[in-house]
Amino acid sequence: MAAQLNLILFGPPGAGKGTQAERLCDDFQLPFISTGDMLRGHVKDETDLGQKAKEYMDAGDLVPDELILAMVRERLLEDDARDGFILDGFPRNADQATALDEQLSDLGRRVTAALLIDVPDEEVIRRLSGRRVCTEAGHNYHIEFDPPKHDDVCDQDGSELIQRDDDKPEVIEHRLGVYHEKTQPLVEYYDEQGLMRRIDGTRAAADVHGHIRAVIATLRLEEDV
Ligand code: AMP
Repeated sequence: MAAQLNLILFGPPGAGKGTQAERLCDDFQLPFISTGDMLRGHVKDETDLGQKAKEYMDAGDLVPDELILAMVRERLLEDDARDGFILDGFPRNADQATALDEQLSDLGRRVTAALLIDVPDEEVIRRLSGRRVCTEAGHNYHIEFDPPKHDDVCDQDGSELIQRDDDKPEVIEHRLGVYHEKTQPLVEYYDEQGLMRRIDGTRAAADVHGHIRAVIATLRLEEDV
């Protein structure tokens, strides 16, 4: 049996994690677990969790840990995550990182690597303010760099494209602040453990994808040794 790959995808909002994840899911038999997507699903379905999380998300603040941790814990216990996963948007602060380590350790597992898709702030702002997402499945577009064939309609499923509330300019700036304050310190946390791999996220999406694939292929070889 191939070794497990328990991967974390890091990077500021708008680094292209969602775009890369779609491609990586096709490449590797690993489930892609995005806490942002899961939360948006809860908001859409108006679940208890969704109702509690919405105000934090709309403001660009982190949803409280007790809500997030229970959701992720359950997700990681699902069958498809048994041999590995790609996490996006989690962990987002030191307590979440510790909780993840503890859960994995209880299961006799550990984080294999953290992949940082690095993008400077001014590029993040340009990307996020033009981003549009489909209401059905969260497919991503950009009005300038990756426009849909028809305005405001998803090429893949025909649903309406909208701008996320948290992609509005004043919220983007706040989200970046939260990222630098709470999430960026985790880069050091994983660096110290020798687990951090850096990827230049300013390059074309296909190049970023190629780089991530190469990193994952190398990790696979190392884990199999
Ligand atoms: P994302 O799509 O990853 O940018 O997430 C959208 C929003 O969901 C964030 O701005 C937070 O409000 C919330 N969120 C997603 N993941 C987490 C997390 N791990 N901890 C706290 N809040 C989160």
